[in-house]
Amino acid sequence: MGRTVVVLGGGISGLAASYHLSRAPCPPKVVLVEASERLGGWIRSVRGPGGAIFELGPRGIRPAGALGARTLLLVMLGGSWLQTLEARGAVLSQELLQQQAQEAAATQLGLKEPPSHCLVHLHKNCIPQYTLGHWQKLEAATQFLASQRLPLTLAGASYEGVAVNDCIESGRQAAARVLGSEPNS
Ligand SMILES: Cc1cc2nc3c(=O)[nH]c(=O)nc-3n(C[C@H](O)[C@H](O)[C@H](O)COP(=O)(O)OP(=O)(O)OC[C@H]3O[C@@H](n4cnc5c(N)ncnc54)[C@H](O)[C@@H]3O)c2cc1C
Repeated sequence: MGRTVVVLGGGISGLAASYHLSRAPCPPKVVLVEASERLGGWIRSVRGPGGAIFELGPRGIRPAGALGARTLLLVMLGGSWLQTLEARGAVLSQELLQQQAQEAAATQLGLKEPPSHCLVHLHKNCIPQYTLGHWQKLEAATQFLASQRLPLTLAGASYEGVAVNDCIESGRQAAARVLGSEPNS
């Protein structure tokens, strides 16, 4: 009977892993399990008020050319700025976040005109923040999986880089490990 590989999560990492698994010379049966009703994870476009298309996640994959030229400006705010607002007990309303984004665009890019279309989203804990000792923990977990011969391989933004290209590479390497081929080839 052929081998079956279950890929947990249909974000870009799981999709990359599934792609590489299914392109192997003797591909296993690949079962992709996704918890939500759509694939793509954080990579998501939505049509906002007035028909404008907004990217809720990475914007770096917008196409070049005419479509890219009409791309809307994405302002990402977070980190200590958000923590300070929360510590002051500020209500994180859509209006406050839009106002802060407009101020950032005005002071940092000189864009003073109010936007024609605007969509505000608060994504809490959306990008993993690796803490001190992350690599040691990851190495220990990887060694544990290997020493116990557990049929589990880790891939995705939580482990070896959050950028889309890191995630694609991490999915590729995970597929190579599962297939028993050299991950760096
Ligand atoms: C606002 C924002 C802007 C960003 N901008 C950039 C950028 O400009 N450039 C860049 O390179 N990167 C950017 N990133 C980072 C990049 O988009 C993410 O790190 C990457 O998309 C994560 O992909 P992933 O597949 O590892 O995880 P996810 O996209 O989180 O996918 C995980 C998937 O697994 C599913 N899942 C979770 N638990 C289960 C379960 N138990 N069973 C089944 N399915 C499950 C989830 O529903 C999800 O679909 C941005 C991220 C965000 C949030």
